[in-house]
Amino acid sequence: MIFNNDTNKVITELTLEHKELPFSGIIDFIWFDDEGIKISDFKSGAYKHDHKDQVLMYALLLKSNLQCLPKEAFIVYPDRSERVEIDEKIVKNVFFDLQDKIFTAKRELKSVPAKTSPNENCQYCPVRQLCDQYWVYLSNDPQQVKKPGAVDLEVEVTGIHSNHGFVGRRSDCDNLKVVYETNVAKGLPLITCGERLRIIGGKQLANEIEIMPWTEVFHL
Ligand code: SF4
Repeated sequence: MIFNNDTNKVITELTLEHKELPFSGIIDFIWFDDEGIKISDFKSGAYKHDHKDQVLMYALLLKSNLQCLPKEAFIVYPDRSERVEIDEKIVKNVFFDLQDKIFTAKRELKSVPAKTSPNENCQYCPVRQLCDQYWVYLSNDPQQVKKPGAVDLEVEVTGIHSNHGFVGRRSDCDNLKVVYETNVAKGLPLITCGERLRIIGGKQLANEIEIMPWTEVFHL
């Protein structure tokens, strides 16, 4: 029993496991009054679409553990709070949706190697240089190379112009310059015309990419 006496009406960081599905969650703030159980999830950043999904998962966990739904649920942002509508039908749909996703994930994980689903989170993957699907995903998103900050890029070397750079052709057939300073050039392997390179964490400049000391360059 979560609330075992009259004085214990607030719980923070409550971990619950679902009784049937293999998932668990930690509810930030849960309290109980004359109307029933209410929950809040605190966010330090801006609104995201999946915040509501997260709170609905908490409702599903409560339903599984206490056989009741929260009377009210809120997402609390630094400047406002948002009420999340919850009823039996909504939570039942969340259950079936999650059940489907878990079933699909289990099936996909059975194949070795597991099927990949590249997305924006791949930019943090430490083995993305080896993942062909990631590079296909990047080639379908020509805006990728125009994003500020560090960029990943696959190029075919089409011309070596100096010890400080070369011209590379991207998958969309556009040419661009890849440049580097002398001290970086010393640490690079020999780069020759015609080979393909995967550059991880290059610096985006106005019309070129700079290979920085921390950039990784892989030969295909
Ligand atoms: S880069 Fe490939 S292996 Fe890495 S997370 Fe993305 S899809 Fe998975």
